[in-house]
Amino acid sequence: MSPSSLSIQERLESIRTELPEDVTLVAVSKTKPNDCIEEALEANQLDFGENRVQELQEKESTLPKNIRWHQIGHLQTNKVKAIVPFVHLIHAVDSAHLLKEIDRRAKNFGRTVDVLLQVHIAQEEVKYGWKAPDLQRYLEEEAVVSFEHVRIRGLMGMATFTPDQQQIAQEFKQLRHLYDSLLAAHPDWNTLSMGMSGDWRIAVDEGSTMIRVGSSIFGGR
Ligand SMILES: *Cc1c(COP(=O)(O)O)cnc(C)c1O
Repeated sequence: MSPSSLSIQERLESIRTELPEDVTLVAVSKTKPNDCIEEALEANQLDFGENRVQELQEKESTLPKNIRWHQIGHLQTNKVKAIVPFVHLIHAVDSAHLLKEIDRRAKNFGRTVDVLLQVHIAQEEVKYGWKAPDLQRYLEEEAVVSFEHVRIRGLMGMATFTPDQQQIAQEFKQLRHLYDSLLAAHPDWNTLSMGMSGDWRIAVDEGSTMIRVGSSIFGGR
């Protein structure tokens, strides 16, 4: 079956059929035009993910206001103020510095912004994400810092880009263990964002609560 012969709505439906009810599907619409998003909206998809701030701003200003916008990619501190007024969840917070900037900008705007901390779980060299021990150390200190306008809701991670399913499962399992080990000290956490088009089924098996799927819904980029 060629996925390209299916409509956006049919592809959404087939993912939803397989997805446990308590796992949130974020439709990653980066690089895709507004009419693709509108088609998904008609199928009651309200969570959308973007990774470029300018594109996110443009889409937010032209599309319906009931959309929940997720910033899923790396976020530069100088771009924070542009999305703080409307963003639903920032997935890839990878430094204390960025967390502070979100808190500061959200305070100016009179909002509390929900975020996830990105953890580096892949074996390949990637630029972004906390290493688990650094994150654990930081969170112990963070109890003292305590932000008022940024609320950490959980963790996000990306597995290595590899055909080795066992390796992917292993990396997601590690992240799930880290998440579970931190939950006791952070009872308000509720989100573990892991899984993309190529690996969301593995991620869900390993305990993901939120998947970010682009090409399997909207086609290749
Ligand atoms: C692009 C992107 C996705 C979606 O990727 P697909 O393979 O198209 O599903 C998920 N997460 C992040 C952080 C991304 O940048």
